[in-house]
Amino acid sequence: MTGFNHGITGAVIALTVKQPVLAVPLSFVSHYFQDLIPHWDYGVSREADKNGNFFTKRFNLSLLADFIFSVILMIVLAILFPTHKLLIWGCMAAAASPDLVWAYYRLYREHIKMQKPKYDPLSNLHHKMQWSQTSAGALVEIAWAIAGLSIILSMR
Ligand SMILES: [Zn+2]
Repeated sequence: MTGFNHGITGAVIALTVKQPVLAVPLSFVSHYFQDLIPHWDYGVSREADKNGNFFTKRFNLSLLADFIFSVILMIVLAILFPTHKLLIWGCMAAAASPDLVWAYYRLYREHIKMQKPKYDPLSNLHHKMQWSQTSAGALVEIAWAIAGLSIILSMR
């Protein structure tokens, strides 16, 4: 899913669990389960994914928009929940962080170094767990965002 939606899940966990020692690891683990849900493909087809043809203009713009919206969400949540600001930020970052591994494999190894890297076992699993990535998955992302933001607002 998008970093934005992983961040929403992290924020919900932060506001529900409230104990950093539990909430931060839970947020990290939530990433993998959330990736099991059919989601948006960021404009990268399964074919392009296989051929390592990943960094299209559409993908880059989608990723940039995802990042900008995520930062805006972090700022808004810090204003709405000043006492839990750091915990929310920590959980949002933890929930989105597993995807940073793709900066290493896809951007550095495949795109820059032009290699065909073998993924480590966790990344292999992470990749396989995302069994459904389609453009229609954008509807799931929108539904997740609306539901998650409603839950967060109800916790004020
Ligand atoms: Zn992921």
